[in-house]
Amino acid sequence: MTIRWYPGHMSKALEQISELVRKIDVIIEVLDARLPYSSSNHLLEQVRRNKPCIKVLNKNDLADPMVTKAWVQHFQRSSGVRALPLSAKNIPEVKNLVKLVKQLAPNRGNPGYPIRTMVVGIPNVGKSTLINTLAGRNIAKVGDRPAVTLRPLWPVMNDQGGAYRLATSGAIGANALDYTNVGTFAAAYMMRRYPDLLKERYKLAEVPQGPHDVVEAVGRCLGCLMSGGVVDVHRAAETFLRELRAGKAGRISFEEPDTPADIEAELLKMAGIEVQAQTQPEPEQPE
Ligand code: GDP
Repeated sequence: MTIRWYPGHMSKALEQISELVRKIDVIIEVLDARLPYSSSNHLLEQVRRNKPCIKVLNKNDLADPMVTKAWVQHFQRSSGVRALPLSAKNIPEVKNLVKLVKQLAPNRGNPGYPIRTMVVGIPNVGKSTLINTLAGRNIAKVGDRPAVTLRPLWPVMNDQGGAYRLATSGAIGANALDYTNVGTFAAAYMMRRYPDLLKERYKLAEVPQGPHDVVEAVGRCLGCLMSGGVVDVHRAAETFLRELRAGKAGRISFEEPDTPADIEAELLKMAGIEVQAQTQPEPEQPE
């Protein structure tokens, strides 16, 4: 199955951001720590105007610490970019963000010269939660469903894996996907990357043979059954995804390849394949 969704008002959003950036001291880009690459919009770099940018790897409480560490190091290699893993509801961690913002805008933050920041990111990464913690009160609407925040800023996705990873994390809404397919994708991923977490959470002696068997076993463990004891696969997949998103099986990152170096290698490989495809001579027509 192909997941399709439309990056709606993305170019309009970028235009508006580009305009706003002029008046901004520090950009706060909120990423999902479980998907540091797939949840970023790479076009943001084009409209950044060399303004300092803090990449907040939010939902760090749910992400695999090793994966997060690799991405923080990677992001910090870019000039003017700092990376900070945190959980938007964690007040001391958010205070570190405030400190960093102040460091990056040393000439502002005095009476009459407030620090001006903007918070950008794809839906459901936790922008509203972060803004509310920063403000110390509810000024932004928080939702447990995607797209509450206006003007979605979707990343440019050219691979299906990215779309599936976003769907697994919950960034793409329930109406844009089929739970069974995404659940099966997530099962295959868990088998490869976190088999022990899978076994532990769902009381499995061994990891089942294939992803469909995993969904089935999860359904059995969670009691997602229809009459006659048959597993309700749709409900099993839905519950499985809900559990993974909520960190019930442990701290999981969804990026794959998961290290920045591997993603770069993958992109180069994709580019190589494209170049090759374009330079292939046309097959000769028989006379
Ligand atoms: P927005 O669309 O980017 O504004 O995202 P929201 O702030 O509405 O957050 C989306 C969902 O993620 C909500 O259910 C939040 O409670 C949850 N959320 C936000 N930040 C965190 C975090 O750091 N950790 C966890 N576990 N959940 C978070």
